Amino acid sequence: MVLKHFRYLLLAAIFVASMPLSAQETYQEVKPGDENLVYQGQDFYPVRNYVEKPKGKRPKNVILMIGDGMGVDHVFAGITANGGKLFLDNFRHVGFSKTQSADKYITDSAAGGTALSTGVRTYNGAIAVDTQRKPLKTILESAVDKKLATGLVSTSAITHATPASFIAHQGSRSSYEAIAADFLKTDIDVFIGGGYKHFTDRQDGKDLTDELKEKGYQVLQDIGAIAQVKSGKLAGLTASEHNGRANERGDLLPVATETAITILNNNKKGFFLMVEGSMIDWGGHDNNTPYVVGEMLDFDRAIGKALDFASRDRETLVIVTADHETGGMSITDGNMYTGMVKGGFTSEDHTAVMVPVFAFGPGAAEFTGIMDNTDIHRKMSKLLLGK
Ligand code: MG
Ligand code: ZN
Repeated sequence: MVLKHFRYLLLAAIFVASMPLSAQETYQEVKPGDENLVYQGQDFYPVRNYVEKPKGKRPKNVILMIGDGMGVDHVFAGITANGGKLFLDNFRHVGFSKTQSADKYITDSAAGGTALSTGVRTYNGAIAVDTQRKPLKTILESAVDKKLATGLVSTSAITHATPASFIAHQGSRSSYEAIAADFLKTDIDVFIGGGYKHFTDRQDGKDLTDELKEKGYQVLQDIGAIAQVKSGKLAGLTASEHNGRANERGDLLPVATETAITILNNNKKGFFLMVEGSMIDWGGHDNNTPYVVGEMLDFDRAIGKALDFASRDRETLVIVTADHETGGMSITDGNMYTGMVKGGFTSEDHTAVMVPVFAFGPGAAEFTGIMDNTDIHRKMSKLLLGK
């Protein structure tokens, strides 16, 4: 009896002692060395429910959202960190994508991006060129040919592998200045991301922002100014190289996504937009759960902006997927009430595992089951462009 009462007393004492503390401080079990593995939980953001009522069988617009390095565990870390629900929960059509490249069991983001942008598997490091280094036409370029509006948004430099593979053709992903020059060879309407220096501080001495202005682009660096743009051509270069991490850059990605949609939607024929949550991958490389979670939640808020538009518009297909998994992440502990998540990692690099595919809107039912990454391109291209 004494022992039993003592236990209740102890529990009551612990409860009272913990009351004035915020959620962030109540989690007491972070052992030294675990700081990078445990996300301690913060305020949750509200997630809306969206009705999926497609107008027809084929979309007028496609928004492809790539969470770089986003495996199922990264998604579930986000779900847990937001108290059990993300905007991603709105997607009713879900499948898996096999991510292998032409020359490697484990792909990089260049070959992974090229598979999604062109439907062709190539070697690791290739930017929309095949294994013979021949340029491959991207879905963005095909959309331009059909007079659709086009856009790219990313948190990394816009010249980095993932966005680059939709617009540039280079044998190596590290040819950033050549990739920047390739932006001038297209009629892309909107791009927002980092990478200013690859346009301005170049070996060839050119300032490509002058050439962009001559082509009619507004060139802006401040996200507040970028958010005011409602029409016309826009080059938003918000960082010299990469933008800061989610906690440093604020709502840049959701705002850039919303801005791009507003501008592209002026085209009555439709649009193609790719949005990348670039740094989910970097959190995985770092084996850092708070980094992964911060980037995952930010990406999910951008997904919310796409759903906001797509559910009203009813002619927009939203596809969310990844180029590969990063970190071999698994969830080893968590708490849906506090948002605490503990991650484990088996790799500091990419892994071979299938990644999720989520689809919402006209044609979404095509994206269920197990598919190759190149199938995503084929389905998307057929639905949007009829080929
Ligand atoms: Mg990337
Ligand atoms: Zn990576």
